[in-house]
Amino acid sequence: MHYDHLLVRYGELTLKGTNRKKFVNQLKDNVKRALIPLDGYHVKGKRDRMYVELDENADMKEIIRRLSKVYGIKSISPVIKTDKTEEAINESAVQLAQSFEKDTTFKIDVKRVDKSFPLDTYTLQREVGGKILSQTEDLTVNVKRPDHEIKVEIRLDAVYIYEEIIPGSGGLPVGTGGKTLLMLSGGIDSPVAGMEVMKRGVTIEAIHFHSPPFTSEKAKDKVIELTRILSERVGPIKLHIVPFTELQKQINKVVHPRYTMTSTRRIMMRVADAFVHKIGAHAIVNGENLGQVASQTLKSMYAINHVTSTPVLRPLLTLDKEDIIKKAKEIGTFETSIQPFEDCCTIFTPKNPVTEPDFDKVEKYESVFDFEDMIQTAVDNIETLTIDPNYKSEKEQSTDALIEDLF
Ligand code: ATP
Ligand code: MG
Repeated sequence: MHYDHLLVRYGELTLKGTNRKKFVNQLKDNVKRALIPLDGYHVKGKRDRMYVELDENADMKEIIRRLSKVYGIKSISPVIKTDKTEEAINESAVQLAQSFEKDTTFKIDVKRVDKSFPLDTYTLQREVGGKILSQTEDLTVNVKRPDHEIKVEIRLDAVYIYEEIIPGSGGLPVGTGGKTLLMLSGGIDSPVAGMEVMKRGVTIEAIHFHSPPFTSEKAKDKVIELTRILSERVGPIKLHIVPFTELQKQINKVVHPRYTMTSTRRIMMRVADAFVHKIGAHAIVNGENLGQVASQTLKSMYAINHVTSTPVLRPLLTLDKEDIIKKAKEIGTFETSIQPFEDCCTIFTPKNPVTEPDFDKVEKYESVFDFEDMIQTAVDNIETLTIDPNYKSEKEQSTDALIEDLF
């Protein structure tokens, strides 16, 4: 079956009256970016829906696969676009019906958006149905439970005929909701938290705290790979790597062992807070989940949150672990997240950290040393990588070059 267009339906976008133009333009940019390496298509964004025109050589399946990951799209249908005449409609509908398997049933569903079209819905339904029956051998009509439902949409510009409706990812187009800084560890939760905010149209930059030699290059590569997976849906993402070793050592020097975990989180938050202003973002996102581990009791969150007045978004706060894992599998980060590389926090985690940290005590321990200069130095020495879906680490690049030299 040859389809000449994809019909792309907008998600919640339809609700946003005055901002619609901005939303449609952003979605159009995002769609174009998602399709970059492919060819044979042309994107046309309209007020109420988008069409992707397909050339003969277009890889429709791959285009659909990519579109289904773009936020702001409710659903996608491969369609045949025809002239607004009875003959043209019949011809295309018959063509579609001829691709159905033998001995199946069908039904015609007409939607008449253009009320000036000469035939009414009922008459057209019968016309098209009759034509299909006379031009095919093994198909029968079943209006209650058809195997195939042929949809005929009479719109102002043309008629669109299709069967399939493929679900999109929903949400809002990324880039319409401001910018946040995602605290990205190598774990299961934070990549999912990032995806949750991106789904609401928000752009992210990621920040990762790295403590070499206590944490290895492999742990860093894991975070790069997680960022790369996220970028498959939204285009390039900036990943900021914070040199955290000196701060980590200093915390362990001055803070009581049972409180180093709380303090580490607080210092991370202070670095993130300083950096958020630098990149013009307006919130910090993390993967915290209520009651999951020692650092994530309410009392602990209170102590950690106290160092910043920037909004801290916790999209996973109330979810069950099972649901987070399910989401991680859906977005494709789970397998990477469970690879066993050490995290700067687990290495320094004492055997029995306080689960209900006393806020005054943390402040007292930290007051022994003025962390401010060290925090500033860490911020000034952040290494920034721009990760896109085709990103390769320096190591991979040099291996590729070696292989190229060999052949
Ligand atoms: P995750 O699965 O995201 O690692 P977690 O359940 O292991 O989360 P914690 O280790 O307590 O929870 O971390 C809580 C949050 O703090 C993480 O979700 C992440 O947002 C942030 N975080 C922890 N370690 C780092 C790090 N090294 N770099 C950046 N952010 C971090
Ligand atoms: Mg973790």
